[in-house]
Order: sequence, then structure tokens, then C-alpha cells
Amino acid sequence: MLDRIRNTHPLVYHYFRALEHGEEQLRSILSIDRYWEQLSLPAPEVVLDGGKMPAGPAVSGDYDIVCAGGTLGMLHAAVMAVRYGWRVLVIDRGEPARSTRDWNISRGELLRLSETGVFTEAELDSLIVRRYRTGWVEFHAPKERRKRLFIDDVLDCAVDADRLLGMAMERVLGTPGSKVAGRTSFRACYRFPDHVVVEAEGPDGGQLRFRARMLVDAMGIVSPVAMQLNGGRPQTHVCPTVGTIATGFEDADYEVGEILASTEPAEITGRGVGRQLIWEGFPARGEEYITYLFFYDSVDSPNDKSLLNLFETYFRKLPDYKQPGAGFTVLRPVFGIIPAWSHDGAGCTRAVSDDRILLLGDAASLGSPLTFCGFGSMVRNLDRLTSRLDRAMRADTLGREALAGISAFEHNVASMANLMKYMCFDAKTDEPNFVNELMNEVMIVLDSLPPRYRQAMFRDEMTLDELVTVMLKVAWRYPKILAATWTKLGLQGSAGFVKNIAGWAMAPSTRNS
Ligand SMILES: Cc1cc2nc3c(=O)[nH]c(=O)nc-3n(C[C@H](O)[C@H](O)[C@H](O)COP(=O)(O)OP(=O)(O)OC[C@H]3O[C@@H](n4cnc5c(N)ncnc54)[C@H](O)[C@@H]3O)c2cc1C
Repeated sequence: MLDRIRNTHPLVYHYFRALEHGEEQLRSILSIDRYWEQLSLPAPEVVLDGGKMPAGPAVSGDYDIVCAGGTLGMLHAAVMAVRYGWRVLVIDRGEPARSTRDWNISRGELLRLSETGVFTEAELDSLIVRRYRTGWVEFHAPKERRKRLFIDDVLDCAVDADRLLGMAMERVLGTPGSKVAGRTSFRACYRFPDHVVVEAEGPDGGQLRFRARMLVDAMGIVSPVAMQLNGGRPQTHVCPTVGTIATGFEDADYEVGEILASTEPAEITGRGVGRQLIWEGFPARGEEYITYLFFYDSVDSPNDKSLLNLFETYFRKLPDYKQPGAGFTVLRPVFGIIPAWSHDGAGCTRAVSDDRILLLGDAASLGSPLTFCGFGSMVRNLDRLTSRLDRAMRADTLGREALAGISAFEHNVASMANLMKYMCFDAKTDEPNFVNELMNEVMIVLDSLPPRYRQAMFRDEMTLDELVTVMLKVAWRYPKILAATWTKLGLQGSAGFVKNIAGWAMAPSTRNS
């Protein structure tokens, strides 16, 4: 497989060839890249009425919950099994409890996982492999106006994701009646009035069936369930992201995190085609340093969103951002598509449930794409997601509408997601440095406000009055944003933003409601 990209993607070939599992990583990237083709195909039919279940193998296990997807799904499964005593089966098509990314979060946020009763604070602390002193955000603007905004306590802890997930898996396996099955792919879910039958393909290719009271879908952005329930369009916006965990940079500062950094205007690759590339750089364990390259985009834009192509760009442009030294070594690639959904309404407008089915994590796409917070969203919401599901299971209220109320939807995150639209470069309407200029103004405004504002913005904790203050100040300094609102959001998008804000204002609690 690697040989096939030798001429088309010479830099990816060069670096991946040296990796122990380079071939496997490439396959994984190509499998995510197939997501874009799937969007043009009819939505899959994987959720079916029980009456349509063909004759097949006998049910091989009875559970309360089948969770498809063992990344964030494993955290949820651990709480449902350990704290609430439900019998959970976690299936994953790959190796369960393994993430293709590493996670950054602040310590205070991470410790919230102890509220679930599954992890102690000491255990959570032991997962922090590096904590940096401060972080900054900076966009490419003329030097005399460029603002480097320093932010403390935001994404400043690098977490050993696999160890966290491994601990969660141990807890699931230590609970009587619960199980984890790797190399087992979800295929379909048949719904009956009082249970579901989940059909899967086992490691040897054989068909398996499991009966449960409900299915939790945590299959991430590629979830066929999310695709079907959302009419084949499970995301409105995306953030394709690639990067590496590497050693040997000449200019990496291990005391400071680079939360967002752009080094050039938008890259224009054709008529009406272009994207604003953004970097992130985080010190990690020991000598390791993580760099990411990504861009915000609407699903429907004509931009090239292939992760493989973005990887080639990453290796080509990396020296413009961080200088790889003579001993530069890539230890592991990290990649994925960060999903986003723009809610056109006062509340959650995305399908995140169906009868006896609940979507979680990236399958639900309710996290903020602004600062990589799918894990952060889960950490903030895990306690209420699991306690509410436990209540619903005890009361047997597992219909679509009841389950829709058990989601990670947050009014502030939905409203803030509109800001991402300003960061989606549009080559048809934007000056090449539009995104950088605008974001530079936002940084100047945040710098003029107390630190709480910047922390709240980058931790998805903004209150309505804080957001309004920032927006008014930016509009005052940078009136071009008013015209940009028209070109970027349009009538429908602007109305959607107003509805989001109205929903937030009417919500009982403005923080995390
Ligand atoms: C490069 C990168 C860096 C990031 N950094 C951060 C960060 O610092 N902080 C943060 O908060 N968030 C971060 N995120 C976001 C975060 O990683 C995601 O939100 C999170 O991983 C989503 O987890 P998930 O379990 O919902 O989906 P995924 O991580 O996509 O996991 C889905 C799981 O489902 C399995 N699966 C898929 N299909 C099937 C099937 N048919 N049958 C069975 N199993 C299946 C997969 O094997 C996988 O294990 C980052 C994302 C990326 C791409």
C-alpha cells in the first residue's frame, strides 16, 4: 500500500516507511478519507425494524447496553457498568481503548472525571504526562499589529489517552456481566418493542448477534447510524486534522503550548478554492512534541479535504512552523476529522437518538470544533449523560424523544460554533488574509479583557454576556466583520445564530445547560 503513494505523496512515503506500523496507519487514513465519498452515496440502512431481521445465527449474548465504538464509548461504558451496575458489551472494529490521537485538556477539567466515581483524582493526575506553563494563540498579521495572546490553564495538560482508556476498559472487564470485544464491527441494529439486536462481524468474519435493551453509538465521525439518522449529512462543518508525535525539533519550547498559530495567509489552490491552514504545537511526554495542521471548512466547500493530501502538505510546510533538526524522528502520526454541526434552532437540531439508540462523542457531533474539544465535551458531560441514561433505563423511557434529552448539547457551545464559520476561508468572498486579520482583532479584544474571557472562550465555558461583550468589541474595532457576517453566514446562518442565542438566553442555566 505504501508503495502506491511513493510518487504521489513522496514525503508521506518517506516518513511512514520508517514507522513500525506505517502501512497500517496509511490504511487507517485512507479509510477515514472514504468518508467524503460516502457523503455522495445514499444514506446507509443499518437501523432496521425487528421484522426485517433475516434468519441468522442465534443471539450469542444478552446485555443491558451494547456500545459500538471503544474510544470515548469506553469511558461511558465504564460509568454505566461500574457506577450503575448495567451489563455492558463494548465492541470495536479495531483495538478497543486505543485512540489515534492524544488529548490535551486543563487539569481542572480532567479531574471532573472523578465525579463519575470510576476514577480517583490520583489516578487522573497520573495520566498527565506533561503540563506546560502557559500557552498562546497568534495569527499571521503585520508584525506591528500582531497580537500573541497568552492563556493559562487551557489545554495545558497532555493526557496519556491510551492509559485512560485502558483503565476504563479494566473497570468494564472487572464488572460481572460486562465484556469488551475487539476486531468486531457493527453491521446493523434491529429494533424490537422492548430490545434491540445488534449484528456485528467478528474477528474471523463470522456474523454475531447480541441482544440488549439499547444501543449506544460511539463510532465517531464514520458512524453509519449517525449517517442514517441525519439523512446522509451527519456534519455541517469539519476540521480535517493531521500531525505527528515526534522528537528532534530544534525550536520546540517544552514550557509553552501553541494553541493556535498561523504562519501565512490562506492557501489558494484554484479559482474559488482555498483554505486557511492553522498549526498547533504541544509539548508531550519526555522529548516528544506534538504538531498538528488543520483547517476549518464547510462540508459542502470545494476544498480538498483528504487527510492523505493534508499529510503531504503538513510535511512540506512543517519547516515553516517548527524546525526539524538532524535527529527529527516521527514516532506516531495523529489524524482525524473533527466534526461540527451548526444548529438552525433554539436547541439541538441534530438527530442524536432514535428509539433505543443513543449517539455519543463524535457520532453525536455536539462538541466544539474550535479547540479540539470532543474529549473535553465528554469530560464535561459524562456525569450527566450517564446519570440521565441510568434514570431512563430504570424508568424504561427509551424512546427517541426521551433519549434526545440525554445529550452533550450545550447552548453556549452551539452558539460559539457559529464563530467557526468566520474561520472557514472562502476564496470566492474573502481577502487572502481575512481569517488572520479577524482573529488577530479577536485576540486584541481578548487581551483587553480580564483573563477569564480568554479562558472561557478556549474552554467552551463562555456565558452569554461574555460572548456578547467580545462580539461587540470586535465589531467596534473591526467593522468589516458586519459585511463578513452577511457573506459567511447569509440570511439563514444569521437567523440560525440569533435562534442559538435566543435558546441560550432562555435556557435555565447559562453555563453548561
Ligand atoms: C488530531 C486530533 C487531535 C485531537 N485533540 C484533542 C484534544 O486535545 N482535546 C480534545 O478534547 N479533543 C481532541 N480531539 C477530538 C477527540 O479526539 C475526538 O472528539 C474523540 O476522539 C472522539 O471520540 P469518539 O469515541 O467519539 O470517536 P473516535 O475517536 O473516532 O472513535 C470511534 C471508535 O469507534 C470504532 N468504530 C468505528 N466504526 C466502527 C464499527 N463499524 N464497528 C465498531 N467500532 C467502530 C473505531 O474503531 C473507534 O475506536 C482531537 C481530534 C483529532 C483528530
